[in-house]
Amino acid sequence: MTDRFVHEHGASRVVFGVGALDRAGDEVARLGARRVLLIADRHSAAYADTLAGLLGDRVRGRIRETATHVPGALADAAAEKAAAHDADLLLCVGGGSATGLAKAVALRTRLPIVAVPTTYAGSEMTPIWGSTRDGRKETGRDPAVRPVTVIYDPALTTALPATLSAASGMNALAHLVEAAYAPRLSPLTAAVADQGIRILAEALPRVVTDPEDMAARSGALQGAWLAGWVLGTTTMGLHHKLCHVLGGFFGLPHAATHSALLPYVTAFNRGAPRLGRVARALGATDAATGLWDLRATIGAPAGLAELGFGAAEIDKVAGLVAAEPPAGPRPVEPAGVRAILRAALDGARPATAEDTP
Ligand code: NAD
Repeated sequence: MTDRFVHEHGASRVVFGVGALDRAGDEVARLGARRVLLIADRHSAAYADTLAGLLGDRVRGRIRETATHVPGALADAAAEKAAAHDADLLLCVGGGSATGLAKAVALRTRLPIVAVPTTYAGSEMTPIWGSTRDGRKETGRDPAVRPVTVIYDPALTTALPATLSAASGMNALAHLVEAAYAPRLSPLTAAVADQGIRILAEALPRVVTDPEDMAARSGALQGAWLAGWVLGTTTMGLHHKLCHVLGGFFGLPHAATHSALLPYVTAFNRGAPRLGRVARALGATDAATGLWDLRATIGAPAGLAELGFGAAEIDKVAGLVAAEPPAGPRPVEPAGVRAILRAALDGARPATAEDTP
């Protein structure tokens, strides 16, 4: 039981349900906004059209281009567009990249955000922003970038292909798993994390079997909400650090990288007291192999090599990560990071707890 913690969570209004997209007009009106900048990724163009129809002339400008890890130049241009239209609200629809671009604009302009997520990344619930310049990913926390309203509509996720759904689900699970060894974890965050893992472990296999199963989609999106909430209320460790380095320096796809690494970082941290609760929430006896098994069941990306990461880069990553080691249950040294990356290269099942020396 945790006995020392500081718990803080910002207030986002959450509107959840099939058809919730139709509430966007009312939600924007509730905030008194009249000049909206609409940001959407390519795959969400049709949802953005629906939003534009609902909002009418309150939409003053549209941004149709987003990119993973929010390149600084893209964010600068979007902020200029917000200023040119004298926008008083940012409305984003799409995956974490669309939310991330809205956050980067909010960071520069302090404009409020209404977010409509279409993946399970969880960014919409956090005060965390990220941006990339010169191959280096910078992140920070600022309450001003946390969306004030989040509209979760499971119907918007049925177009997310099974493989992307599985990868994005592993991304959400990563937030929930890393909370297990966050310093000064509050009992509230711990309970939410357990529940998020249970929901995702149940929903994701059904989502990939039938991407149109609305009940499963609803479950997965609720799990993603809890994962984002957990990410926003606590701090992350080695796993997220590794993903940021691999994404920032090597341009690896965000969700797939989470999927490729999670079982091995969890195996590295074996012995952290709360990982037993993670295992139980997964319905497994060991968190690392339980995550690997779930990953295999849902066909999520396995193997960093498949994502274009080569063994030759392992030393560089190990050096970068160990130079600024994150807090965690075990000291992070280059040898440990190298072992994780080697194991993650081909994606083989981690040794069971009994096999681990
Ligand atoms: P993404 O937003 O890049 O989307 C991945 C792909 O899926 C894109 O091609 C997108 O157009 C497509 N897509 C999105 N929704 C779709 C749908 N419903 N149907 C079909 N295709 C769809 O990827 P992501 O994994 O959602 O987000 C990754 C980004 O979010 C990264 O930059 C990551 O750093 C950031 N992130 C930030 C936080 C935070 O708290 N700041 C948390 C999680 C992720």
